[in-house]
Amino acid sequence: MARHIDPVCRLCRREGVKLYLKGSRCESPKCAIERRNQPPGMHVRRGKMTEYGERLREKQKLKRFYGLLERQFRRYFDLAARSTENTGEALLSLLERRLDNVVHRIGFAPSRAGARQLVAHGHIQVNGKNCDIPSLVLKAGDKVGVKNRAKSIAIVKLNQTGHMEPIPDFLEIIGAEPPEGRVIRIPSKGDVDPRLTKDKELNEQLIIEFCGR
Ligand code: SF4
Repeated sequence: MARHIDPVCRLCRREGVKLYLKGSRCESPKCAIERRNQPPGMHVRRGKMTEYGERLREKQKLKRFYGLLERQFRRYFDLAARSTENTGEALLSLLERRLDNVVHRIGFAPSRAGARQLVAHGHIQVNGKNCDIPSLVLKAGDKVGVKNRAKSIAIVKLNQTGHMEPIPDFLEIIGAEPPEGRVIRIPSKGDVDPRLTKDKELNEQLIIEFCGR
């Protein structure tokens, strides 16, 4: 499974907004962007951004927020473009329904990267069956639970105690021992993680224009 291995705080500094890639550290004074909000590297480019640059940055922000690589992101974009819904809304809905995102937003993991690790290490079940595929796209009614094993339950319970974000409306907790949740309905644009648009509104149209070139 390919993944990003460079320091992730550089990604936030590159985009100029918090992407919340490190769990509780992102809310603390240790957050790199709080201390030094400028793009990484020696040769910082100043001046007005080009139209291409604006579109590229918007796409990179969304891709990096969900912890995706370029090829994975393009796959979701192609799926969204082929759907009968509005492409921007379909794209956001697909990203929100990824198993790693659901595991994080329901409070089982402190970040999407943490959720991906939890899934890949076999702690998570989908509809009662073991699942180690973080990119799995869930449907309405799917249940996401923790394997009934002391170690898995202990990790998730610890994560739940530190989880500060409210559980979104499209998800619900249905069990505590072992922890279990459910996707109530397909998420819409309004269900997207509010932290994505906290510092700056997301303009999906720019992303569509960039990817649809
Ligand atoms: Fe690093 Fe999190 Fe701050 Fe981003 S939001 S700079 S990942 S600590």
